[in-house]
Amino acid sequence: MKNTSNRDCFCALCRTPRKLSYTRHLNGLNYLQIVLLTAAFTWATFPLFQFKALSSVFVIWATFEISKKLLYRKDIKCKVCGFDPTWYRKDVRVARRQVENFLKENPDSPMLRAKKTLNNVEISS
Ligand SMILES: [Zn+2]
Repeated sequence: MKNTSNRDCFCALCRTPRKLSYTRHLNGLNYLQIVLLTAAFTWATFPLFQFKALSSVFVIWATFEISKKLLYRKDIKCKVCGFDPTWYRKDVRVARRQVENFLKENPDSPMLRAKKTLNNVEISS
């Protein structure tokens, strides 16, 4: 059976094979968790808020959406070169600056090592 939550892809910049484990959107299990959490919260605070406690579904839903998006954003950034496709779509200059900063902070990144090896081959030949 194919697991659709693990998506194989390549980094658009350094071509490193990647495996994304998070999606941007909530899945069926997440919605079930939201319903169960809302039911538990409503049950626990019923003497205090009565049926108004049901409105906590919006807060719980928003929390799920935000955390899912944060996990996705953290997951989609390449660990080898620091390339972030989400930023690339919004602003190319920001994405470029992020990659430059990432490579400055990680001088032993496999991407820089590959480039150095390539340069040595070019010099020696
Ligand atoms: Zn990359």
